[in-house]
Amino acid sequence: MADTLPRDAALDTDRVRSLLQLARATRGFMPDDEGEALLLAALSAGRAAPPAAAPATFVEIGSWCGKSTVYLGAAAEATGAVLLSVDHHRGSEENQPGWEYHEADLVDPEVGRIDTLGHWRRAVTAAGLEASVVGVVGDSPTVAARWDRPLALCFIDGGHGEEPAWADYRGWAPRVATGGWLAIHDVFPDPADGGRPPYELYCAALASGEFVDDGACGSLRVLRRVAPPPDLR
Ligand code: SAH
Ligand code: MG
Repeated sequence: MADTLPRDAALDTDRVRSLLQLARATRGFMPDDEGEALLLAALSAGRAAPPAAAPATFVEIGSWCGKSTVYLGAAAEATGAVLLSVDHHRGSEENQPGWEYHEADLVDPEVGRIDTLGHWRRAVTAAGLEASVVGVVGDSPTVAARWDRPLALCFIDGGHGEEPAWADYRGWAPRVATGGWLAIHDVFPDPADGGRPPYELYCAALASGEFVDDGACGSLRVLRRVAPPPDLR
């Protein structure tokens, strides 16, 4: 799909420019153009936050070292929203030793497990985003089961295996307010480019009739909720 997200004057402030620079330099899995597209989607979400979703809340699943957090946090700060960034900080299956995306220096030698929380926190602090970003350290479905407020935007970029990806979709997509945004990362229509589950979530969101396409950049898909989930109708 062609990249379809518009430009935005808000990108041309010194503050946003410096946050974009910081985000680009932050360790993680988000190409520069997709990060900017994510920021644009979140700006729209923060500005158009439906009254039912006040105070405006963004949720991101998958904080890792804070790269997407800084993009989303920039939009939260610019629009007065707050971003909850959810991660147990132990890495996904694909980040564990022996897997494709393992980074050995992220293992806490005392515990013998990945721990990205310190990296994430330093990124948020360096960006000066502590007032606009709240870290939620824990298992995404466990948090989702205890969260029932409408969201202005939800960004799904957690575990990419079948089970964790669907758990994120089932747990969080119903919380996106009507008129709110759902963004999904690592959506690859061609199986040769990457794993299936995020693409399947994207297809399910469209097939539900609850979401419509609202833009794409690289493997980022942006959707907007146009109808409530069945249990809220
Ligand atoms: N958005 C990040 C990349 C996220 S990588 C960036 O911009 O770089 C995926 C993240 O999902 C990992 O940090 C992993 O710890 C987290 N994750 C995987 N399964 C999870 C679960 N069940 N609960 C919370 N976080 C999870
Ligand atoms: Mg990703």
